[in-house]
Amino acid sequence: MADFAAERAKIEAFVHNTCDKLGWDLYTNEEVTGLVRDGLAKNRVEYGFQACPCYSFLSYHQRDADGNFTQDPPKKNLKVNCPCEPARVLDVPGSVTYANREEMEAKTTGWPDRGTITDNPDGTVTLTSYHPGYCHCFLFTAKHGVIADGDIG
Ligand code: SF4
Repeated sequence: MADFAAERAKIEAFVHNTCDKLGWDLYTNEEVTGLVRDGLAKNRVEYGFQACPCYSFLSYHQRDADGNFTQDPPKKNLKVNCPCEPARVLDVPGSVTYANREEMEAKTTGWPDRGTITDNPDGTVTLTSYHPGYCHCFLFTAKHGVIADGDIG
């Protein structure tokens, strides 16, 4: 089994590389980001990939009705492999407008919560994420995002 300290070091490099590559920043509260980084490292040790510590397997079809994993070990799930699909699709900042409801539903299939859905007069649909400007775990934020600690809800 992989070593936690070694995986934690990989996560450290990963978060900085991801910010560089995608033009994101890290959320400013290091206590919060430290916990998320620990969770990612723990999942690397436990599952062999960096499953999101909050979305993880709880939300994405890998448990049966009794809460047991449907695969042993759970397979790599790109939807929740950090940086996860919701964060990538949203490009972190706030709201996204889709051509129509079908497109929105197709692109957000399996999300535990789509946030606020607005039907626009021209037929487009705007989805506003519940944490506009930062990823669900409060690890990544939009570049130069101004996010107060009190925003965590
Ligand atoms: S919510 Fe954030 S920490 Fe979790 S997988 Fe997505 S980008 Fe990574």
